Amino acid sequence: MIELKNISKTYQSGKIAFQALKNVDLKIEQGEFVAIMGASGSGKSTLLHILGFLDPPDDGEYLFLGQNVAKLKEGTITKLRNKVAGFVFQQFHLLPGLKAYENVSLPLIYGGNRDLKPKSLEQLIAVGLKDRAEHVPNELSGGERQRVAIARALVNDPLVIFADEPTGNLDTASESEIMKIMNGLHEKGITIIMVTHEMEIAEHAQRIITMRDGKIISDISKNKSKVIIKIIKNIQSNIAEDIINEKKKLSPNQAEWIDHIKQAFRSIRVNKLRSFLSMLGILIGVAAVIAMLALGKGATSSIEKDLSRLGSNLLIVMPGNRSEGGVSMGTGASSRFTEADLAVIKNIPSVKRASGVISGKAQVVYSNKNWRTSISGTDVDYSQMRVIEPNIGRYFNEKEQLARERVAVIGATIVDKLYGTEDPLGKNIKINKVNFKVVGILPSKGFSGGRDENDVIYIPLSTAMYRLMGEKYLNQIQVEVDKKENIESTKLEVTDLINQLHKWQAIDNM
Ligand code: ADP
Ligand code: MG
Repeated sequence: MIELKNISKTYQSGKIAFQALKNVDLKIEQGEFVAIMGASGSGKSTLLHILGFLDPPDDGEYLFLGQNVAKLKEGTITKLRNKVAGFVFQQFHLLPGLKAYENVSLPLIYGGNRDLKPKSLEQLIAVGLKDRAEHVPNELSGGERQRVAIARALVNDPLVIFADEPTGNLDTASESEIMKIMNGLHEKGITIIMVTHEMEIAEHAQRIITMRDGKIISDISKNKSKVIIKIIKNIQSNIAEDIINEKKKLSPNQAEWIDHIKQAFRSIRVNKLRSFLSMLGILIGVAAVIAMLALGKGATSSIEKDLSRLGSNLLIVMPGNRSEGGVSMGTGASSRFTEADLAVIKNIPSVKRASGVISGKAQVVYSNKNWRTSISGTDVDYSQMRVIEPNIGRYFNEKEQLARERVAVIGATIVDKLYGTEDPLGKNIKINKVNFKVVGILPSKGFSGGRDENDVIYIPLSTAMYRLMGEKYLNQIQVEVDKKENIESTKLEVTDLINQLHKWQAIDNM
């Protein structure tokens, strides 16, 4: 939807020229939720203003829906700003003399609309401010004012919301209200581009872009950024802890500590991790990174493999059970798996592919027929790993996974029970009352181990977790190792890494 090519922007104040953007390239697709981070003065607002048609670049090309914005007439650009974009700023920018609903109706007035009040009220209701419609900004809290500003941004049904530090002036409670609204808008398919310098806020996005000195220095999408955020948070809290609480400075025994560090150094992960961190533009002492890696030792997690059934190079990683042996994890350490574990596993060099799996039973309905079946949420790669390939239609793709789309791949039993002779492809299927679209149909497989392999539905992992089951833990992680010879070492590495990560998380939760 949005494409910037080689965009530059220089500000001239008096004799001094300052280049705020330097040859920026950027593509943003419709429906993305992007956070722009970076130090103050790094060019975030300048970039957002250009994206929002508020300011033209000096150099380079801005294509919006394939159109070169520079070639559009001024009137067209004004319309774009008014109809396509919604803006939310740190300072709210409400007109003090107007009531909340009147502020919301401003973009409608500019657009020459009638019926201002009902439309404005509708938006105020959507942001939970029904009873505040008649109040002027002075009578509203900061969080409420920002919600009025969001209602104003929404009143023309924008394609994109541009937000510059929207929670910068708010307390934590209002902050989370605003982010809830933003997440809701994203789920409705609105593209969100949001400048923020807070990691907690950026975490809501699917993609984090970091700027430094007028350039984009990193651009990371969901899975990766999640782990990195976690790691950085832990490092930050560790550093803070070290500074504040001198007692906790190092591990109990200095020699043991050094040993850990050496051990950590040997692992290839250190380099990977460091390059991630520098990609993010966050400079942290190498020692801190290594300290993080060295923290976990021992602890539990069992890995089970079922080579005969799954094909040769597959490992199934399941959360450990303390009674199965191994050292107990400290209090607070969760032995359940999250997406962070999955991302860490995917990052192991000998891991070819990995998929989180979450499964459950659900009632499925089409037209007047219903059936109870098994639902599995998986990654896209699962299809190839487990050779679950539709003969009609397709497996879901990465884009659908990222967007948590409601798409389903159904087994032969489902076809039989719900659709009969009708072609299910492209049809609706209700899974626990939620509407999904059938995008693939699996060939009939026959029974295996008493289980009907045809009586199953596969949906994107993210959809299963966040939209269907409301579950943040994975049941298992399936791992495909690159070569047979690496299975044992991968098993150890997975155990080790997961244990480390869980130790950090335990510390983080303390
Ligand atoms: P950020 O939003 O990342 O804090 P900005 O995009 O606002 O950064 O600014 C980038 C740089 O450009 C800063 O050094 C800022 O001082 C400078 N700058 C921004 N706007 C102007 C302006 N109108 N005139 C001169 N310099 C500006
Ligand atoms: Mg700014």
